[in-house]
Amino acid sequence: MTDQYQNFSHSPLGQFVTKNLGLPQPPKLQRFERATPVLEGAVLLGAAANSIFVAGISQVLTNIHANSYAGNNPKLQQLAARVGLNLGAFNTGDKESKFKALIFDASGIAQSQDLQQLYAFFQPLMRQVSASGRVVVVGLNPQQAKTVAQATAQRALQGFVKSLAKELKKGITAQLLYVDPDAEDHMESSLRFVLSPRSAYISGQVLYIQHAQMQHIDWQQPLLGKTALVTGASRGIGAAIAQVLARDGAHVICLDIPAQQQELQAIANQIQGSALALDISQANAGMQILAAAQSQGGLDIIVHNAGITRDKTLANMPQQAWDMVLDINLSAIERINHHLLSQQGLNAQARIVCISSISGIAGNMGQSNYATSKAGVIGLVEYTAPTLTQGMTINAVAPGFIETQMTATIPFAIREAGRRMNTMSQAGLPIDVAEAIAFFAQPASGGLNGNVLRVCGQSILGA
Ligand code: NAP
Repeated sequence: MTDQYQNFSHSPLGQFVTKNLGLPQPPKLQRFERATPVLEGAVLLGAAANSIFVAGISQVLTNIHANSYAGNNPKLQQLAARVGLNLGAFNTGDKESKFKALIFDASGIAQSQDLQQLYAFFQPLMRQVSASGRVVVVGLNPQQAKTVAQATAQRALQGFVKSLAKELKKGITAQLLYVDPDAEDHMESSLRFVLSPRSAYISGQVLYIQHAQMQHIDWQQPLLGKTALVTGASRGIGAAIAQVLARDGAHVICLDIPAQQQELQAIANQIQGSALALDISQANAGMQILAAAQSQGGLDIIVHNAGITRDKTLANMPQQAWDMVLDINLSAIERINHHLLSQQGLNAQARIVCISSISGIAGNMGQSNYATSKAGVIGLVEYTAPTLTQGMTINAVAPGFIETQMTATIPFAIREAGRRMNTMSQAGLPIDVAEAIAFFAQPASGGLNGNVLRVCGQSILGA
Protein backbone atom coordinates (compact mmCIF):
# COMPACT_ATOMS: atom_id res chain seq x y z
CA MET A 1 0.00 0.00 0.00
CA THR A 2 1.39 3.42 -0.94
CA ASP A 3 2.37 5.83 1.82
CA GLN A 4 0.70 8.99 0.45
CA TYR A 5 2.09 11.16 3.25
CA GLN A 6 5.66 10.10 2.51
CA ASN A 7 5.21 10.82 -1.21
CA PHE A 8 3.71 14.22 -0.42
CA SER A 9 6.51 15.10 2.03
CA HIS A 10 9.10 14.60 -0.74
CA SER A 11 7.35 17.04 -3.12
CA PRO A 12 8.47 20.72 -3.06
CA LEU A 13 5.13 21.78 -1.54
CA GLY A 14 5.26 18.90 0.95
CA GLN A 15 8.77 19.84 2.05
CA PHE A 16 7.64 23.41 2.65
CA VAL A 17 4.50 22.39 4.57
CA THR A 18 6.07 19.67 6.72
CA LYS A 19 9.05 21.87 7.62
CA ASN A 20 6.92 24.85 8.62
CA LEU A 21 4.37 22.83 10.57
CA GLY A 22 7.03 20.71 12.28
CA LEU A 23 5.56 17.49 10.81
CA PRO A 24 7.59 14.29 10.32
CA GLN A 25 9.86 14.32 7.27
CA PRO A 26 10.52 10.69 6.36
CA PRO A 27 13.93 10.47 4.65
CA LYS A 28 14.43 8.51 1.42
CA LEU A 29 16.26 5.38 2.53
CA GLN A 30 19.07 4.06 0.39
CA ARG A 31 18.43 0.35 -0.26
CA PHE A 32 20.46 -2.47 -1.83
CA GLU A 33 21.26 -2.06 -5.53
CA ARG A 34 24.42 -4.15 -5.99
CA ALA A 35 26.73 -6.28 -3.85
CA THR A 36 29.79 -4.07 -4.35
CA PRO A 37 30.88 -1.66 -3.15
CA VAL A 38 29.50 -2.45 0.30
CA LEU A 39 29.36 1.27 1.01
CA GLU A 40 30.12 4.34 -1.04
CA GLY A 41 32.06 7.04 0.79
CA ALA A 42 34.76 7.43 3.41
CA VAL A 43 34.93 5.50 6.69
CA LEU A 44 36.42 6.92 9.87
CA LEU A 45 37.76 4.38 12.34
CA GLY A 46 38.29 5.15 16.00
CA ALA A 47 39.08 3.07 19.05
CA ALA A 48 39.18 3.37 22.81
CA ALA A 49 42.56 2.75 24.39
CA ASN A 50 43.45 -0.96 24.73
CA SER A 51 40.69 -2.09 22.36
CA ILE A 52 41.13 -5.57 20.91
CA PHE A 53 39.16 -5.60 17.68
CA VAL A 54 40.99 -2.96 15.61
CA ALA A 55 42.83 -5.57 13.53
CA GLY A 56 39.62 -7.53 12.87
CA ILE A 57 37.71 -4.41 11.83
CA SER A 58 40.63 -3.26 9.68
CA GLN A 59 40.70 -6.64 7.95
CA VAL A 60 37.05 -6.23 6.97
CA LEU A 61 37.66 -2.66 5.77
CA THR A 62 40.54 -4.01 3.65
CA ASN A 63 38.33 -6.78 2.23
CA ILE A 64 35.60 -4.33 1.22
CA HIS A 65 38.14 -1.81 -0.20
CA ALA A 66 36.82 0.94 2.03
CA ASN A 67 38.33 4.40 1.77
CA SER A 68 39.31 4.53 5.45
CA TYR A 69 40.69 7.17 7.81
CA ALA A 70 41.83 7.35 11.41
CA GLY A 71 41.79 10.29 13.77
CA ASN A 72 45.19 11.55 14.93
CA ASN A 73 45.95 8.22 16.55
CA PRO A 74 49.22 6.71 15.29
CA LYS A 75 48.55 3.42 17.10
CA LEU A 76 45.44 2.84 15.00
CA GLN A 77 47.37 3.37 11.80
CA GLN A 78 50.07 0.92 12.90
CA LEU A 79 47.53 -1.74 13.88
CA ALA A 80 45.60 -1.37 10.63
CA ALA A 81 48.79 -1.49 8.56
CA ARG A 82 49.50 -4.96 10.00
CA VAL A 83 46.51 -6.30 8.05
CA GLY A 84 47.29 -4.23 4.97
CA LEU A 85 44.91 -1.34 5.63
CA ASN A 86 46.27 2.10 4.90
CA LEU A 87 44.34 4.49 7.14
CA GLY A 88 44.46 8.06 5.91
CA ALA A 89 45.05 10.76 8.51
CA PHE A 90 42.09 12.87 9.59
CA ASN A 91 42.36 16.09 11.50
CA THR A 92 39.50 16.38 14.00
CA GLY A 93 39.49 20.13 13.39
CA ASP A 94 38.39 19.46 9.80
CA LYS A 95 34.67 20.26 9.74
CA GLU A 96 34.25 19.93 5.98
CA SER A 97 34.85 16.20 5.42
CA LYS A 98 31.81 13.93 5.34
CA PHE A 99 31.86 10.26 6.29
CA LYS A 100 29.58 7.48 5.12
CA ALA A 101 30.45 5.50 8.21
CA LEU A 102 31.94 6.00 11.66
CA ILE A 103 33.20 2.84 13.34
CA PHE A 104 34.41 2.86 16.93
CA ASP A 105 36.03 -0.09 18.66
CA ALA A 106 34.88 0.34 22.27
CA SER A 107 36.14 -3.03 23.49
CA GLY A 108 38.91 -1.35 25.52
CA ILE A 109 36.41 0.49 27.72
CA ALA A 110 36.94 -1.17 31.09
CA GLN A 111 35.22 1.15 33.55
CA SER A 112 32.61 3.91 33.55
CA GLN A 113 35.20 6.70 33.41
CA ASP A 114 36.46 5.28 30.09
CA LEU A 115 33.07 5.99 28.51
CA GLN A 116 34.30 9.55 28.07
CA GLN A 117 36.20 8.23 25.04
CA LEU A 118 32.86 7.74 23.25
CA TYR A 119 32.10 11.42 23.73
CA ALA A 120 35.59 12.44 22.61
CA PHE A 121 35.34 10.47 19.36
CA PHE A 122 31.73 11.00 18.34
CA GLN A 123 30.77 14.45 19.61
CA PRO A 124 32.84 16.50 17.11
CA LEU A 125 31.64 14.30 14.23
CA MET A 126 27.89 14.32 14.67
CA ARG A 127 27.30 16.73 11.80
CA GLN A 128 29.78 14.99 9.50
CA VAL A 129 27.90 11.78 8.67
CA SER A 130 26.34 11.81 5.21
CA ALA A 131 22.76 10.79 4.36
CA SER A 132 21.99 7.07 4.81
CA GLY A 133 25.32 6.88 6.65
CA ARG A 134 26.25 4.31 9.26
CA VAL A 135 27.49 4.49 12.86
CA VAL A 136 28.81 1.24 14.30
CA VAL A 137 30.10 0.67 17.80
CA VAL A 138 31.91 -2.60 18.46
CA GLY A 139 31.92 -3.68 22.08
CA LEU A 140 32.78 -6.67 24.21
CA ASN A 141 29.86 -8.89 25.20
CA PRO A 142 29.26 -7.86 28.85
CA GLN A 143 28.70 -11.55 29.71
CA GLN A 144 32.36 -12.12 28.83
CA ALA A 145 33.69 -9.22 30.90
CA LYS A 146 36.31 -9.96 33.54
CA THR A 147 35.07 -7.47 36.14
CA VAL A 148 31.77 -5.91 37.18
CA ALA A 149 33.14 -2.49 36.21
CA GLN A 150 33.97 -3.70 32.71
CA ALA A 151 30.56 -5.38 32.26
CA THR A 152 28.84 -2.22 33.50
CA ALA A 153 30.72 0.04 31.11
CA GLN A 154 30.16 -2.31 28.18
CA ARG A 155 26.44 -2.55 28.99
CA ALA A 156 26.30 1.25 28.98
CA LEU A 157 27.15 1.23 25.26
CA GLN A 158 23.55 0.22 24.52
CA GLY A 159 22.13 3.45 25.89
CA PHE A 160 24.64 5.46 23.90
CA VAL A 161 24.00 3.72 20.58
CA LYS A 162 20.21 3.72 20.93
CA SER A 163 20.26 7.45 21.68
CA LEU A 164 22.55 8.27 18.76
CA ALA A 165 20.21 6.26 16.54
CA LYS A 166 17.38 8.57 17.60
CA GLU A 167 19.39 11.76 17.12
CA LEU A 168 20.82 10.98 13.68
CA LYS A 169 18.41 11.91 10.88
CA LYS A 170 18.52 11.52 7.07
CA GLY A 171 18.33 7.72 7.17
CA ILE A 172 21.55 7.39 9.19
CA THR A 173 21.56 4.27 11.37
CA ALA A 174 23.52 3.29 14.49
CA GLN A 175 24.15 -0.27 15.68
CA LEU A 176 26.11 -2.03 18.41
CA LEU A 177 27.99 -5.26 17.78
CA TYR A 178 28.95 -7.17 20.93
CA VAL A 179 31.78 -9.52 20.07
CA ASP A 180 33.17 -12.35 22.18
CA PRO A 181 36.94 -12.03 22.76
CA ASP A 182 37.61 -15.11 20.57
CA ALA A 183 35.21 -14.06 17.78
CA GLU A 184 37.23 -11.31 16.14
CA ASP A 185 37.35 -13.28 12.87
CA HIS A 186 33.55 -13.63 12.75
CA MET A 187 32.58 -9.97 12.51
CA GLU A 188 32.70 -9.74 8.74
CA SER A 189 29.14 -10.71 7.79
CA SER A 190 27.74 -8.43 10.52
CA LEU A 191 29.97 -5.48 9.63
CA ARG A 192 29.19 -5.82 5.93
CA PHE A 193 25.48 -5.97 6.74
CA VAL A 194 25.28 -3.01 9.11
CA LEU A 195 27.52 -0.86 6.90
CA SER A 196 25.58 -1.54 3.71
CA PRO A 197 22.20 -0.33 2.40
CA ARG A 198 20.85 -3.84 3.17
CA SER A 199 20.23 -2.63 6.74
CA ALA A 200 18.36 0.54 5.65
CA TYR A 201 15.40 0.14 8.04
CA ILE A 202 17.35 -1.21 11.04
CA SER A 203 18.64 1.15 13.70
CA GLY A 204 19.47 1.18 17.40
CA GLN A 205 19.97 -2.60 17.41
CA VAL A 206 22.38 -4.90 19.20
CA LEU A 207 23.89 -8.08 17.72
CA TYR A 208 25.90 -10.67 19.65
CA ILE A 209 28.74 -12.42 17.78
CA GLN A 210 30.34 -15.63 19.02
CA HIS A 211 33.19 -17.81 17.85
CA ALA A 212 32.19 -20.23 15.08
CA GLN A 213 33.69 -22.50 12.46
CA MET A 214 35.14 -20.56 9.50
CA GLN A 215 33.33 -21.01 6.18
CA HIS A 216 34.44 -20.35 2.63
CA ILE A 217 32.51 -17.30 1.45
CA ASP A 218 31.49 -15.94 -1.91
CA TRP A 219 30.37 -12.43 -0.96
CA GLN A 220 28.75 -11.81 -4.35
CA GLN A 221 26.44 -14.84 -4.08
CA PRO A 222 26.73 -16.02 -0.48
CA LEU A 223 23.96 -18.62 -0.77
CA LEU A 224 25.13 -20.32 -3.95
CA GLY A 225 24.51 -24.08 -3.78
CA LYS A 226 22.19 -23.77 -0.76
CA THR A 227 18.59 -24.99 -0.59
CA ALA A 228 16.18 -22.81 1.35
CA LEU A 229 12.53 -23.21 2.27
CA VAL A 230 10.36 -20.18 3.03
CA THR A 231 6.87 -20.56 4.52
CA GLY A 232 4.13 -18.08 3.59
CA ALA A 233 6.05 -17.25 0.39
CA SER A 234 3.17 -16.39 -1.95
CA ARG A 235 3.08 -12.70 -1.02
CA GLY A 236 4.25 -9.94 1.31
CA ILE A 237 7.36 -10.49 3.38
CA GLY A 238 7.58 -14.18 2.44
CA ALA A 239 7.70 -13.44 -1.30
CA ALA A 240 10.43 -10.83 -0.71
CA ILE A 241 12.44 -13.34 1.37
CA ALA A 242 12.21 -15.93 -1.40
CA GLN A 243 13.34 -13.33 -3.96
CA VAL A 244 16.30 -12.11 -1.90
CA LEU A 245 17.51 -15.63 -1.01
CA ALA A 246 17.33 -16.52 -4.73
CA ARG A 247 19.16 -13.29 -5.62
CA ASP A 248 21.92 -14.39 -3.23
CA GLY A 249 22.19 -17.75 -4.99
CA ALA A 250 19.90 -20.19 -3.15
CA HIS A 251 17.41 -22.61 -4.67
CA VAL A 252 14.22 -21.68 -2.85
CA ILE A 253 11.30 -23.97 -2.10
CA CYS A 254 8.33 -21.61 -1.71
CA LEU A 255 5.63 -22.88 0.63
CA ASP A 256 2.12 -21.54 1.17
CA ILE A 257 -1.41 -22.87 1.78
CA PRO A 258 -3.02 -24.75 -1.14
CA ALA A 259 -5.53 -21.88 -1.69
CA GLN A 260 -2.55 -19.66 -2.64
CA GLN A 261 -1.17 -22.19 -5.16
CA GLN A 262 -1.41 -19.91 -8.21
CA GLU A 263 0.38 -16.94 -6.60
CA LEU A 264 2.91 -19.33 -5.04
CA GLN A 265 3.75 -20.94 -8.37
CA ALA A 266 4.18 -17.48 -9.93
CA ILE A 267 6.78 -16.50 -7.29
CA ALA A 268 8.54 -19.86 -7.61
CA ASN A 269 8.69 -19.51 -11.42
CA GLN A 270 9.98 -15.96 -11.15
CA ILE A 271 12.99 -17.06 -9.08
CA GLN A 272 13.45 -20.50 -10.67
CA GLY A 273 12.60 -22.16 -7.40
CA SER A 274 10.00 -24.78 -6.59
CA ALA A 275 6.58 -24.61 -4.96
CA LEU A 276 5.13 -26.64 -2.09
CA ALA A 277 1.42 -26.10 -1.40
CA LEU A 278 1.04 -27.05 2.25
CA ASP A 279 -0.71 -25.84 5.39
CA ILE A 280 2.03 -25.70 8.05
CA SER A 281 -0.52 -26.43 10.78
CA GLN A 282 -1.00 -29.96 9.45
CA ALA A 283 0.40 -32.56 11.83
CA ASN A 284 2.66 -34.06 9.15
CA ALA A 285 3.94 -30.72 7.77
CA GLY A 286 7.51 -31.46 8.95
CA MET A 287 7.48 -34.77 7.11
CA GLN A 288 6.24 -33.15 3.89
CA ILE A 289 8.86 -30.39 4.11
CA LEU A 290 11.56 -32.99 4.64
CA ALA A 291 10.38 -34.99 1.61
CA ALA A 292 10.36 -31.86 -0.60
CA ALA A 293 13.85 -30.86 0.60
CA GLN A 294 15.37 -34.31 0.14
CA SER A 295 14.89 -34.11 -3.63
CA GLN A 296 16.99 -30.89 -3.51
CA GLY A 297 19.88 -32.35 -1.49
CA GLY A 298 18.49 -31.52 1.97
CA LEU A 299 17.73 -28.23 3.64
CA ASP A 300 20.38 -25.60 4.41
CA ILE A 301 18.00 -22.78 5.34
CA ILE A 302 14.46 -22.73 6.70
CA VAL A 303 12.61 -19.48 7.18
CA HIS A 304 9.49 -19.67 9.35
CA ASN A 305 7.68 -16.68 7.93
CA ALA A 306 4.01 -17.76 7.63
CA GLY A 307 1.90 -16.09 10.26
CA ILE A 308 -1.59 -14.78 10.85
CA THR A 309 -3.37 -12.20 12.98
CA ARG A 310 -6.89 -12.46 14.45
CA ASP A 311 -6.99 -9.21 16.45
CA LYS A 312 -9.55 -8.67 19.25
CA THR A 313 -9.21 -7.54 22.83
CA LEU A 314 -9.13 -10.58 25.09
CA ALA A 315 -12.63 -9.81 26.39
CA ASN A 316 -14.00 -10.13 22.84
CA MET A 317 -11.75 -12.88 21.52
CA PRO A 318 -13.37 -16.15 20.45
CA GLN A 319 -11.37 -19.23 21.43
CA GLN A 320 -10.87 -20.14 17.79
CA ALA A 321 -8.96 -16.88 17.19
CA TRP A 322 -6.65 -17.69 20.10
CA ASP A 323 -6.10 -21.32 19.11
CA MET A 324 -5.48 -20.64 15.41
CA VAL A 325 -2.95 -17.86 15.96
CA LEU A 326 -1.01 -19.80 18.59
CA ASP A 327 -1.00 -22.93 16.46
CA ILE A 328 0.13 -21.39 13.15
CA ASN A 329 2.52 -18.79 14.57
CA LEU A 330 4.20 -20.90 17.23
CA SER A 331 3.22 -24.56 17.68
CA ALA A 332 3.58 -25.37 13.96
CA ILE A 333 7.14 -23.98 13.99
CA GLU A 334 7.98 -26.05 17.06
CA ARG A 335 6.59 -29.22 15.42
CA ILE A 336 8.44 -28.62 12.14
CA ASN A 337 11.75 -27.82 13.86
CA HIS A 338 11.40 -30.86 16.09
CA HIS A 339 10.78 -33.11 13.10
CA LEU A 340 13.65 -31.69 11.04
CA LEU A 341 16.13 -31.80 13.91
CA SER A 342 15.16 -35.26 15.16
CA GLN A 343 15.21 -36.77 11.64
CA GLN A 344 18.54 -35.16 10.60
CA GLY A 345 16.51 -33.16 8.08
CA LEU A 346 18.84 -30.18 8.20
CA ASN A 347 22.31 -30.15 6.66
CA ALA A 348 25.36 -29.25 8.77
CA GLN A 349 25.71 -25.45 9.18
CA ALA A 350 21.96 -25.08 8.56
CA ARG A 351 20.32 -21.77 9.33
CA ILE A 352 16.88 -21.55 10.97
CA VAL A 353 15.37 -18.06 10.87
CA CYS A 354 12.05 -17.26 12.53
CA ILE A 355 9.85 -14.18 12.18
CA SER A 356 8.74 -12.68 15.45
CA SER A 357 7.30 -9.17 15.77
CA ILE A 358 7.76 -6.07 17.90
CA SER A 359 4.31 -7.00 19.26
CA GLY A 360 6.04 -10.01 20.79
CA ILE A 361 8.51 -7.68 22.49
CA ALA A 362 6.25 -4.80 23.55
CA GLY A 363 2.80 -6.41 23.63
CA ASN A 364 -0.01 -4.71 21.76
CA MET A 365 -3.61 -3.92 22.55
CA GLY A 366 -5.95 -6.31 20.72
CA GLN A 367 -3.13 -8.75 20.02
CA SER A 368 -2.83 -10.87 23.17
CA ASN A 369 -2.95 -14.02 21.01
CA TYR A 370 -0.48 -12.73 18.37
CA ALA A 371 1.93 -11.17 20.91
CA THR A 372 1.93 -14.40 22.94
CA SER A 373 2.79 -16.41 19.84
CA LYS A 374 5.53 -13.98 18.73
CA ALA A 375 7.07 -13.76 22.22
CA GLY A 376 7.03 -17.56 22.17
CA VAL A 377 9.00 -17.46 18.92
CA ILE A 378 11.68 -15.40 20.69
CA GLY A 379 11.76 -17.98 23.48
CA LEU A 380 12.05 -20.77 20.94
CA VAL A 381 15.03 -19.06 19.32
CA GLU A 382 16.78 -18.18 22.58
CA TYR A 383 16.41 -21.61 24.14
CA THR A 384 17.01 -23.68 21.00
CA ALA A 385 20.22 -21.82 20.09
CA PRO A 386 22.49 -23.46 22.69
CA THR A 387 21.14 -26.94 21.89
CA LEU A 388 22.10 -26.90 18.20
CA THR A 389 25.06 -28.90 16.92
CA GLN A 390 27.07 -29.17 13.67
CA GLY A 391 27.42 -25.40 13.31
CA MET A 392 23.68 -24.84 12.92
CA THR A 393 22.18 -21.54 14.09
CA ILE A 394 18.74 -20.17 14.88
CA ASN A 395 17.90 -16.46 14.98
CA ALA A 396 14.81 -14.29 14.82
CA VAL A 397 13.88 -11.16 12.97
CA ALA A 398 11.25 -8.99 14.65
CA PRO A 399 9.63 -6.64 12.12
CA GLY A 400 7.91 -3.43 13.11
CA PHE A 401 5.37 -1.88 10.79
CA ILE A 402 5.97 -3.27 7.28
CA GLU A 403 3.84 -2.39 4.22
CA THR A 404 2.02 -5.65 3.37
CA GLN A 405 -1.50 -7.01 2.97
CA MET A 406 -1.45 -7.80 6.71
CA THR A 407 -0.93 -4.14 7.69
CA ALA A 408 -3.17 -2.81 4.87
CA THR A 409 -6.16 -4.17 6.80
CA ILE A 410 -5.35 -2.03 9.89
CA PRO A 411 -7.74 0.95 10.37
CA PHE A 412 -6.40 4.22 8.84
CA ALA A 413 -5.55 6.14 12.04
CA ILE A 414 -3.71 3.21 13.64
CA ARG A 415 -1.93 2.50 10.35
CA GLU A 416 -0.71 6.11 10.12
CA ALA A 417 0.50 5.99 13.75
CA GLY A 418 2.30 2.71 13.06
CA ARG A 419 4.06 4.26 10.09
CA ARG A 420 5.29 7.36 11.92
CA MET A 421 6.10 6.09 15.43
CA ASN A 422 9.72 5.29 14.66
CA THR A 423 12.98 7.12 14.07
CA MET A 424 12.62 6.82 10.27
CA SER A 425 9.02 8.24 10.31
CA GLN A 426 7.97 5.61 7.78
CA ALA A 427 7.00 1.98 7.43
CA GLY A 428 9.51 -0.61 6.31
CA LEU A 429 9.25 -2.61 3.10
CA PRO A 430 9.18 -6.41 2.83
CA ILE A 431 12.69 -6.30 1.36
CA ASP A 432 14.02 -4.79 4.59
CA VAL A 433 12.95 -7.89 6.51
CA ALA A 434 14.19 -10.13 3.70
CA GLU A 435 17.68 -8.60 3.77
CA ALA A 436 17.99 -9.28 7.51
CA ILE A 437 16.97 -12.89 6.97
CA ALA A 438 19.43 -13.34 4.11
CA PHE A 439 22.15 -11.98 6.42
CA PHE A 440 21.40 -14.57 9.12
CA ALA A 441 21.21 -17.26 6.40
CA GLN A 442 24.75 -16.66 5.14
CA PRO A 443 27.43 -19.31 5.77
CA ALA A 444 29.56 -16.45 7.20
CA SER A 445 26.95 -15.73 9.89
CA GLY A 446 27.79 -18.84 11.93
CA GLY A 447 28.80 -16.59 14.84
CA LEU A 448 25.24 -15.32 15.21
CA ASN A 449 23.10 -17.72 17.20
CA GLY A 450 20.10 -16.85 19.38
CA ASN A 451 19.87 -13.21 18.25
CA VAL A 452 16.61 -11.28 17.88
CA LEU A 453 17.06 -8.47 15.37
CA ARG A 454 14.34 -5.84 15.12
CA VAL A 455 13.63 -4.48 11.65
CA CYS A 456 11.46 -1.59 12.74
CA GLY A 457 13.14 1.76 11.95
CA GLN A 458 13.68 1.92 15.73
CA SER A 459 9.97 1.86 16.57
CA ILE A 460 9.16 3.35 19.94
CA LEU A 461 7.16 0.20 20.75
CA GLY A 462 9.16 -1.96 23.13
CA ALA A 463 12.37 -0.07 22.41
P1 NAP B 1 0.79 -11.84 4.85
O1 NAP B 1 0.85 -10.83 3.75
O2 NAP B 1 -0.53 -12.14 5.47
O3 NAP B 1 1.47 -13.19 4.32
C1 NAP B 1 1.56 -14.34 5.12
C2 NAP B 1 1.48 -15.56 4.23
O4 NAP B 1 1.51 -16.73 5.07
C3 NAP B 1 0.16 -15.59 3.46
O5 NAP B 1 0.38 -15.98 2.13
C4 NAP B 1 -0.62 -16.63 4.24
O6 NAP B 1 -1.64 -17.25 3.49
C5 NAP B 1 0.46 -17.60 4.63
N1 NAP B 1 0.00 -18.50 5.65
C6 NAP B 1 -0.86 -18.22 6.67
N2 NAP B 1 -1.13 -19.34 7.36
C7 NAP B 1 -0.46 -20.35 6.76
C8 NAP B 1 -0.38 -21.74 7.01
N3 NAP B 1 -1.05 -22.31 7.99
N4 NAP B 1 0.42 -22.48 6.20
C9 NAP B 1 1.10 -21.92 5.19
N5 NAP B 1 1.04 -20.60 4.90
C10 NAP B 1 0.27 -19.82 5.69
O7 NAP B 1 1.76 -11.44 6.04
P2 NAP B 1 3.11 -10.58 6.07
O8 NAP B 1 2.76 -9.21 6.49
O9 NAP B 1 3.92 -10.81 4.84
O10 NAP B 1 3.81 -11.26 7.35
C11 NAP B 1 4.78 -12.29 7.25
C12 NAP B 1 5.30 -12.60 8.65
O11 NAP B 1 5.82 -11.41 9.23
C13 NAP B 1 4.22 -13.10 9.60
O12 NAP B 1 4.76 -14.07 10.45
C14 NAP B 1 3.86 -11.85 10.39
O13 NAP B 1 3.33 -12.18 11.65
C15 NAP B 1 5.21 -11.20 10.49
N6 NAP B 1 5.14 -9.75 10.76
C16 NAP B 1 4.61 -8.89 9.85
C17 NAP B 1 4.58 -7.53 10.14
C18 NAP B 1 4.03 -6.52 9.17
O14 NAP B 1 4.05 -5.33 9.50
N7 NAP B 1 3.54 -6.91 7.99
C19 NAP B 1 5.09 -7.07 11.34
C20 NAP B 1 5.62 -7.97 12.26
C21 NAP B 1 5.66 -9.31 11.94
P3 NAP B 1 -3.22 -16.80 3.73
O15 NAP B 1 -3.23 -15.57 4.57
O16 NAP B 1 -3.74 -16.57 2.38
O17 NAP B 1 -3.85 -17.91 4.48
